[in-house]
Amino acid sequence: MYTLETLKKYCLNCKKCPLHATRTNVVFGEGNPNATIMFIGEGPGYNEDIQGRPFVGAAGQLLDKMLNAINLKREEVYIANIVKCRPPNNRNPLYEEAKSCIEYLRWQVKLVDPKIIVCLGAVAAQNIISQDFKITRDRGKWVELGKFHVMPTYHPAALLRDENKKRPAWEDFKNIKKKYEELKA
Ligand code: URA
Ligand code: SF4
Repeated sequence: MYTLETLKKYCLNCKKCPLHATRTNVVFGEGNPNATIMFIGEGPGYNEDIQGRPFVGAAGQLLDKMLNAINLKREEVYIANIVKCRPPNNRNPLYEEAKSCIEYLRWQVKLVDPKIIVCLGAVAAQNIISQDFKITRDRGKWVELGKFHVMPTYHPAALLRDENKKRPAWEDFKNIKKKYEELKA
């Protein structure tokens, strides 16, 4: 049985898939080890690769703002990605890369043991919920996966590209907050 710390040490040396060759840093994930909510993105981008931390670029700043808007601090939640190494030019992770890497995420979920999992964007939702998940069609509805309440919503980077997605994303975040309050009570 791992702890988050031993799992992280192991992951930082991982060469299980070709993404290891082009990374600067492995981005393991971070946050409250006992978080009630876990946010899962796609994979590190340019800034994350340089800093070794998840969601620290423009999309990350928007995520922080959205968390604050529902009275959550970044330190209260846990943030991770489907792949821990940056895909070149921020392309989507390939099926094989995600398959190799998701084992780490499964351990993270087991160890943090959140009640709510938020999939940020299509790649996270496809790898966690279902391969044929369509973000515009399927986002915003709770999916019950075992004991986990899973909410798929837009990736914050998508909100930066398309203003029209901000309102539905805000509805999703309000639902996340509501579920969080219910579960706490
Ligand atoms: N986009 C992601 O999907 N994950 C990050 O960590 C940063 C940007
Ligand atoms: Fe290992 Fe994941 Fe990095 Fe691939 S992306 S080398 S599986 S940590």
